[in-house]
Amino acid sequence: MSGQPGKLPARDFEEIRLAEALERGRCPICDARQESSFAALRGLAREGATDRGLRAQMDKGLGFCRPHSVGLSKMELLQTSSQLATAVLLDAVLRRRLATLKKLAAADAGAQGRGLADVAEPKCPVCARAAEAERTAVDRLLTLSADPAWSAALGTAELCLTDIYAVWAAAAAGPKDVQARWSGILASQLARLEQLQKTLAEYAHNSTVDRRGLITAEQQAAGAASIRLFGGSPDRDRTR
Ligand SMILES: [Zn+2]
Ligand SMILES: [Zn+2]
Repeated sequence: MSGQPGKLPARDFEEIRLAEALERGRCPICDARQESSFAALRGLAREGATDRGLRAQMDKGLGFCRPHSVGLSKMELLQTSSQLATAVLLDAVLRRRLATLKKLAAADAGAQGRGLADVAEPKCPVCARAAEAERTAVDRLLTLSADPAWSAALGTAELCLTDIYAVWAAAAAGPKDVQARWSGILASQLARLEQLQKTLAEYAHNSTVDRRGLITAEQQAAGAASIRLFGGSPDRDRTR
């Protein structure tokens, strides 16, 4: 597990949040993404329906992806016990989509294929904010890795697999000193994954009815850790 609470030097709110995620055994990049999606959804539920800039963007094809359509309605319900703002926004998206689909229905097959590929991309503003938060978190973590305490914490952190790829890609595209720092962190991460895989194999080996009594707490924990590795850190408990 990662370092002890309060050990990582942090200079601003952003770094405090990354440190907190690492210290709580969460993937700090999943955490940043979730935090920014929540902030975006909160803002949309509160002001989206009356935001002229947003409505103008919707006229240009902005929409919501599946999880964030649901997320928006849930956020609004939490905040106001209604889903009216969601209805106003989805009406605007649907009106625009319907116009596009009607045009598409009248087009030839080739144009239909291209048009469908285009509308399949929801151009979700919440996804855009989350992607931006992800890039910021990745860059910040790579900068912070110059500090030995951060570098050590990143080596043992419960980074999810997709975010390991993201940091790796950013490091590989970065300057030589960043590449060198990352290769140390990566070696620790690969050792962590190797250990996880071994324990997971023992857990799987004990899955037959006659061996279930041999399952250890460590093996069970590996099962849960493997789900976080592939599925990302779950939503943080939010009390409001
Ligand atoms: Zn992650
Ligand atoms: Zn989205």
